[in-house]
Amino acid sequence: MMRGLFVFAALLVAVFGKVTFEGHKVLRIVPKDEVQLSLIKDLEEMMEFELDFWRGVTTVSNPVDVRVPFHVLKSVKDYLETQNIDYSAMIEDLQMILDKEQKEMAAARVPQAKNTDSFDFANYHTLEEIYSFQDMLVAENPNFVSKIVIGQSYEGRPLNVLKFSTGGTNRPAIWIDTGIHSREWVTQASGLWFAKKIVTDYGTDPALTAILSQMDIFLEIATNPDGYAFTHSSNRMWRKTRKPNPGSSCVGVDPNRNWDAGFGEPGASSSPCSETYRGPSAHSESEVKSIVDFVKSHGNIKAFISIHSYSQMLMYPYGYKSTPANDAAELHKVAQKAISDLTSLYGTKYTYGSIIDTIYQASGNTIDWTYEQGIKYSYTFELRDEGRYGFLLPASQIIPNAQETWLALMSIMDHTSKNPY
Ligand SMILES: [Zn+2]
Repeated sequence: MMRGLFVFAALLVAVFGKVTFEGHKVLRIVPKDEVQLSLIKDLEEMMEFELDFWRGVTTVSNPVDVRVPFHVLKSVKDYLETQNIDYSAMIEDLQMILDKEQKEMAAARVPQAKNTDSFDFANYHTLEEIYSFQDMLVAENPNFVSKIVIGQSYEGRPLNVLKFSTGGTNRPAIWIDTGIHSREWVTQASGLWFAKKIVTDYGTDPALTAILSQMDIFLEIATNPDGYAFTHSSNRMWRKTRKPNPGSSCVGVDPNRNWDAGFGEPGASSSPCSETYRGPSAHSESEVKSIVDFVKSHGNIKAFISIHSYSQMLMYPYGYKSTPANDAAELHKVAQKAISDLTSLYGTKYTYGSIIDTIYQASGNTIDWTYEQGIKYSYTFELRDEGRYGFLLPASQIIPNAQETWLALMSIMDHTSKNPY
């Protein structure tokens, strides 16, 4: 039956273009004790419910956010109530928020920006608009910004990386990526803002100018372009890549479980239908493999920052094991300073620490791999919010979110440039 429904839902997409989320709610569930924690973990395993965990199970009293389709709402509520587990509706009517987001985007779209000065950073943009922004930025700053195509996505889209460089050959470098999980729209939107900020501040802001006199910055804004295009065309809640899985009707791999660091260990799923499916083998996804090849061939990347949303966290390795990283003490201090800078702007509160201590065990994640490649300053962010809108952060928060995050990025980049290794 559930399988039938799934196939039916897939057919709807094929016929009508876009998945709707009529009647879907996002529930916030808070486990009171270990027993409840394990009962909620059991829910994660019940594939037939087609639940979508926006914020996964961690520890007692930490909230779990889950999108519940209308047709299983009663069953899920019964399950929770029978076990006496507390929950509330974080989002009462998901489709209503999506409709509002669509309306705002459509209203903002015309006229299309002719240069990056008139680009509308306070709204969400399509993949085509991101690509055209990148080309405009390169054209406007030919001696400073260039575009490198590090590979192709599964569906054949270019994997574009912006390089900001004031000269030199193979200088030590900082890598920043956004959007490896496609539905985390505030991250790609922030990436666009960061790109413009680098160009604006270079030559006027002494700290950034000093960093760029020694180091290059690489920025990949649409790290999972197939997924991002799909969030616009078909399913706003798409997280994974778009590569089909042989023998399964479920599509895609979680590109943040696909790296060769603890690959296949606890903290990822072996089921193609899971949102945290690790894939058939490490680096099976071209979106991941292209970064792997780039990092290895560059050989001089000193900081690697991979940006997600949401939950307001800054984390460092490890995610796949509880052994502290050799540099944990320094990484912790740098995180502390970065967050104190971030919070100074609007008072936004972040937590920080190793991935496994701060969020949960996550194997095959990006920054465990980069750290094990010898990139000491490996960090990952979870941007706004804490769970009012989750992945559907109102566009009005894009700029404040990017501004405060930039302070943290500057702090990490500044430390990296002043502590060569
Ligand atoms: Zn993510």
